[in-house]
Amino acid sequence: MATIFTKIINREIPATIVFENDKVLAFKDINPQAPIHILVVPKKEIPTINDLKKEDRELIGEIYLAIGKIAKDLGIAEQGYRVITNCNEYGGQEVFHIHFHLLGGKKLETKIV
Ligand code: AMP
Repeated sequence: MATIFTKIINREIPATIVFENDKVLAFKDINPQAPIHILVVPKKEIPTINDLKKEDRELIGEIYLAIGKIAKDLGIAEQGYRVITNCNEYGGQEVFHIHFHLLGGKKLETKIV
C-alpha cells in the first residue's frame, strides 16, 4: 500500500531531497533526531524488512552505497554516523515503506535502546 514516502518519491508532497538515482531516494527527516537525519528509501514499495525478497538483494546494496555517498557529501563519513531501520510495532516503525535512518553530525549515545 502506498505511503507518504511514495508521495514524496512521486513529488506529490514536498521534501528536501539530498540524493536520487533510478532506484533510491534520500531526503531530510521532517522531525530530525540528530543534526543530520536523512531517510534513505527504495523507490520500490517494500513495507518492512520482513517483506524483503532475494530479488531485493541488489537494491539493499544500492541503498548502502547511497548512504555512503550521502555521508561523504555531507562531510560526516570520517567522524561517523548511524544507520537504523525500524521494523513493525516493537521496532517503532511508523511508515510502512522500508527506510534507513542516517543519523549523524554529533557523537551519538553508545546505547541504541
Ligand atoms: P519510522 O518510525 O522508522 O517509521 O520513521 C518514520 C520517519 O519518517 C520519522 O522519523 C518521521 O519523522 C519521518 N517522516 C514522516 N513524515 C515525513 C515527511 N513528510 N517528510 C520527511 N520525513 C517524514
